[in-house]
Amino acid sequence: MRNFGLIGKTLTHSFSQKYFEQKFKIEGIKATYTNYELASIQEFPKLLDGNINGLNVTIPYKTSILPYLDTLDENAKAIGAVNCVQIKNGKTTGYNTDWIGFMNSLKPLFDVDKTYKAVVLGNGGAAKAVLYALAQMDIETIIVSRTKQETSVTYEELTTDIGLEYLLWINTTPVGMFPEVNEKLPIPKCIQLSADHICYDLIYNPELTSFLKWGKSMGALTKNGQEMLELQAEEGWKIWNS
Ligand code: NAP
Repeated sequence: MRNFGLIGKTLTHSFSQKYFEQKFKIEGIKATYTNYELASIQEFPKLLDGNINGLNVTIPYKTSILPYLDTLDENAKAIGAVNCVQIKNGKTTGYNTDWIGFMNSLKPLFDVDKTYKAVVLGNGGAAKAVLYALAQMDIETIIVSRTKQETSVTYEELTTDIGLEYLLWINTTPVGMFPEVNEKLPIPKCIQLSADHICYDLIYNPELTSFLKWGKSMGALTKNGQEMLELQAEEGWKIWNS
């Protein structure tokens, strides 16, 4: 029997446990998947005394776990966040599979005849994995943040031309996530999308978010974060079995 799990702070609505328990049942895999709610990341080393083979990591520990790990995979190091830990012979290695889930769920949406530039809305944890994936694909990017920084623009600074030129719009903020489903991003009215555009929302609940409704109303192709979530979980499974 192998043991896996998820660490985070509040895990009542977590996807991973349901996903892996169902997978283990369907595929006849002898394994358990447990949610570990940690009040602080300082509780992480205590978990390693048990019989755990692998862990997923979620909010708010994806970055704070880094100093507690023995080794970091080079992608996780570059992103600065870990969402998957392999525990082998008492040694922990941190990986990031969010970027792979994002990239592999996005790629099939591309029209091969178009060159994509991306607008990334939000500049938090999820944006790091998205920006890394976009860089791997050589996609030019603008980051939009509520606060002015050297590497980003504000929502007010978005122009009609950016709307026309940047065909890929990605929401990495929690705006519109259940239960605040009617919350909207402050994207200016001058941004007009078309059937040439893709709107990708990392949120998976609800299926059709306020951001995706906005894109769909102008004919853009839309995609929510469900497949990204499934693909990052499967990448983690591959790592635990490697
Ligand atoms: P986060 O760190 O709490 O927020 C990300 C960024 O969103 C913030 O840094 C902020 O950027 C912006 N933001 C937050 N509240 C906002 C508001 N009221 N209005 C406008 N912008 C706001 O969250 P996260 O961990 O990056 O996750 C973001 C979302 O991605 C969540 O919904 C999460 O569930 C989802 N996610 C999905 C997957 C998946 O596999 N599908 C994986 C990871 C995360 P600025 O301060 O720079 O504006």
